[in-house]
Amino acid sequence: MDRNLLQSTLAESGEPAYRADQVWRWVAGGAAGYEEMTNLPAALRERLAVEVPFSTLTVAAEAKADDGTVKTLFNTADGRPLEAVLMRYRDGRRSVCVSSQSGCPLTCTFCATGQMQFGRNLSADEILDQALHFRRVEAIDHVVFMGMGEPTMNVDNVLAACARLPDVGVSNRRTAISTVGWVPGIDRLAECELPVALALSLHAPNDGLRSQLMPVNDRYPLAEVLAACRRYIERRRRKVFVEYVMLDGVNDHPEHARELARLLDPRAYKVNLIPYNPTGAYDGSPPEAIERFRAILAEQRITATVRLTRGREIAAACGQLAASAA
Ligand code: SF4
Repeated sequence: MDRNLLQSTLAESGEPAYRADQVWRWVAGGAAGYEEMTNLPAALRERLAVEVPFSTLTVAAEAKADDGTVKTLFNTADGRPLEAVLMRYRDGRRSVCVSSQSGCPLTCTFCATGQMQFGRNLSADEILDQALHFRRVEAIDHVVFMGMGEPTMNVDNVLAACARLPDVGVSNRRTAISTVGWVPGIDRLAECELPVALALSLHAPNDGLRSQLMPVNDRYPLAEVLAACRRYIERRRRKVFVEYVMLDGVNDHPEHARELARLLDPRAYKVNLIPYNPTGAYDGSPPEAIERFRAILAEQRITATVRLTRGREIAAACGQLAASAA
């Protein structure tokens, strides 16, 4: 919901200041529309229904997987596509992966979003409306900024959305912001007061390979990125999660695992190995290669887990739903 439009509409209607909070509490609690807001005068509910759209986003397509994962393609009011995914885990966790940009200006070679045209940064309300879409379906308890876009290139709006997520049921400790290593963004997260988690998409253990996979590495090479992570770790006293997508024959060699282990302090990093959903350019590593990689990290005392894949048949890679609908 566009909360500025809500505020100005309420002010024009001569409503008391507390009305905006009343409306927000309903919205954050998962109300499906103004008609549910029984502590608002009926005439006001009708006016709001006409003048303040309930969401800044409209649903363009939705895909559901057998494991309960739901992937939704939205359009902004100015027609920009973006995606969000609800992941349902057996232990009851409900995690929403949100987008921070429509498209992405970075061009990671393994990523479908990176092959799309960049649209623009999303507003804080457009980010929140992705989580709220799923909150209307059921309670959610985790949010990860791992959808379309590089969140730290839109850090003000991302942090403004994070500040509101506890109202929606997601504490900041259960919120993770993922970056490909945008150094000024990592420094902003180190300085901000919200206790959100940081995930670093590393994907390669040396500059040569990383630049091939992720051109952003030419701007911020590994040493600079890891120095920024050290600043974050020292200041926040929190571990950083390293994301490492497993590409068959590209970055999954045992020597890559040993190189990665040399880069990371086991006390400060946890590694998440991600089975790859092919987008055409690469194949995913077979399970035995992933296990071998994990075991080498474990020998070097680096905690590494293999990410559960959710919604494989529908989700494929971030950006694919938008790309196929374009
Ligand atoms: S991986 Fe992230 S930063 Fe890289 S192109 Fe895709 S969305 Fe952008």
